[in-house]
Amino acid sequence: MIKEKTKSILQNLPERADLVVAAKDRSREEIKQTIESGAKIIGENYLKQAKANYAFLGAKVKWHFIGHLQKNKVRKAVKIFDMIETLDSLALAEIINKESERIKKVMPVLIEVNSASEPQKFGIFPDEVLEFKEKVSRLPHLQVCGLMTMGPFIRDSEKIRPYFRKTKEIFDQIKNKNQGNQWKYLSMGMSSSYKVALEEGANIVRVGTAIFGPRQPKK
Ligand SMILES: *Cc1c(COP(=O)(O)O)cnc(C)c1O
Repeated sequence: MIKEKTKSILQNLPERADLVVAAKDRSREEIKQTIESGAKIIGENYLKQAKANYAFLGAKVKWHFIGHLQKNKVRKAVKIFDMIETLDSLALAEIINKESERIKKVMPVLIEVNSASEPQKFGIFPDEVLEFKEKVSRLPHLQVCGLMTMGPFIRDSEKIRPYFRKTKEIFDQIKNKNQGNQWKYLSMGMSSSYKVALEEGANIVRVGTAIFGPRQPKK
């Protein structure tokens, strides 16, 4: 099943878009199957799981961090990940910059947008993204290359559409101001909403349950 699901999602993606397989709480055998079916990027929410999976599967694939990154985990994260999709504060940006400098790396990051301005959620409010982008772009060991959003947790993906659209507008606003080609990724949409996200301009989608099935409760 995992193999068929992975292949069919990959086949139906537009050419410009990348699939990030959201691997939280999945076994390494499950992750291996999705890679054997063509998945090129694995998304991890937890450092501990990422380290174990990375040790097992390594550089065959790219690794994106998609969870909330705690400051005391940054030193390990910058070693493993090819991209951190969830830059959500200036303090975190400064630590990623410092730890990346230590290992002489320039870390690709996406700014996480709290597109529905929900107070309990991580991410930069839409109104503040432009200013935040200017600030973090000054950090030499970060490569700020786009935006990521979760959107609100609503079943009906049509109701999430406006938040994807708003995030795309901010993405384009920044793109139009900056001629460089570093600014290129817009990561939006999960299993239930990735088709809508693609219609709204996403070029990274993060999919878990549509590949692996429902998540099992943790043992
Ligand atoms: C788990 C997760 C996903 C994938 O969610 P599914 O509903 O399982 O597809 C996408 N993005 C983030 C940040 C996640 O934590």
